[in-house]
Amino acid sequence: MTTVRFAPSPTGRIHIGNARTAILNWLFALKSGGEFVLRYDDTDRVRSTEAFAKGIAEDLDWLGIKPHRIEWQSKRFSRYDTLAQELREAGRLYACYETADELDRRRKRQLARGLPPVYDRAALKMTAEDRLKLEAEGRKPHWRFKLDGRMVEWTDLIRGPQHIDTASLSDPVLVREDGSYLYTLPSVIDDIDLTITHVIRGEDHVVNTAVQIEITEALGGAAPTYAHHSLLTGADGKGLSKRLGSLSIQSMREAGLEAMAVVSHAALLGTSDNIHPCADYRELIDGFDLHKLSRAPARFDEAELKHLNAKLLHMLPYEAVKDRLDGESEAFWMAVRGNVEILSDSTAWAHIVRDRFKPDVSSDQRAFLDTARTLLPPEPWDASTWKVWTDAVKAATDRKGKSLFMPLRLALTGMDHGPELAALLPLIGRERAAERLG
Ligand code: GLU
Repeated sequence: MTTVRFAPSPTGRIHIGNARTAILNWLFALKSGGEFVLRYDDTDRVRSTEAFAKGIAEDLDWLGIKPHRIEWQSKRFSRYDTLAQELREAGRLYACYETADELDRRRKRQLARGLPPVYDRAALKMTAEDRLKLEAEGRKPHWRFKLDGRMVEWTDLIRGPQHIDTASLSDPVLVREDGSYLYTLPSVIDDIDLTITHVIRGEDHVVNTAVQIEITEALGGAAPTYAHHSLLTGADGKGLSKRLGSLSIQSMREAGLEAMAVVSHAALLGTSDNIHPCADYRELIDGFDLHKLSRAPARFDEAELKHLNAKLLHMLPYEAVKDRLDGESEAFWMAVRGNVEILSDSTAWAHIVRDRFKPDVSSDQRAFLDTARTLLPPEPWDASTWKVWTDAVKAATDRKGKSLFMPLRLALTGMDHGPELAALLPLIGRERAAERLG
């Protein structure tokens, strides 16, 4: 059984880049008939909040992602303690006492001598006596994982064959002085315990992967298959900043964008497929293949998303929007959908169709509009009424083209642009039409 996970830290809301990771995982799970785990990486007890976790769940739900299972790292600390202890006993996790300052000075010295700033494992050379002395001074250890220092290899589903020499890396700190965990170890333990088969995440984790594969093996687990996608950049080509602003899923929802426009955009961005609107997940699942993802960074442009949103609305059937249309009919939606950029733009057209108003009409059109009014056909009206009526007006007034249609549009809608009048006219109805023309 395929199992994937999306592992946000609930220290803020998710933005389009995080959502893209979630959507790729969700598509992978659906395509393979597998499961999607939402795992809150909330080991940072100070910055993680329940409100953010709830907000993330809402954002995912809005995007149509329904996790099969939800896990919290903060509920699994005793499990991490047990396995950290096993690593200590196996000599893979060792105590270090350097302060941040000391480490910093050491790094600078290494760089000055042209050496890579890799941790020199000085702590491993300490005697039990050295350690006791430091502890007597009140120093507490942080704990590093002793890397094998070998070539770690894996076949990445997006990046192809990968190899990283862990001899070039510092032994990573897994446990802080205060006993709290950095993200690395809990993530590995969870991936093993939850039998995660595929880890699909951003390429900012590629180096972590080499470390995590070593830790997985040290714990006797089997490494999952990895896929690292490129990261999104902003329209300016620079990385998406941490500052959320209009990039957050919450703000997109509040701006009235369609969830499926965001999903289509995020799922197809940076792939070999054209970005086009998909009304639901089905088409995206059919076409989904991680191999289609480019290794180059993908550029996210808000203007393109808005454009895609409009394109999606223009093709959405009534059923897809009915519940959000405030009781408007299918005929109304079919008439106006081509003229909206976000769904709530339809409200203005509902007013235009329904309200009683008298548009300002220039005096030189008065006689023409009076004639047009007297020629309004009797009800019932349908899609053919407009043609029947304007043919009659044309014959009676000798006008054609713009000089025929524009004064009618202005009088009937108060606007010089908008949906096909053939579709709007029956919605406006004879009584209101006559009132506006007269
Ligand atoms: N909490 C990590 C992050 O948001 C998860 C990375 C991962 O998928 O392993 O970067």
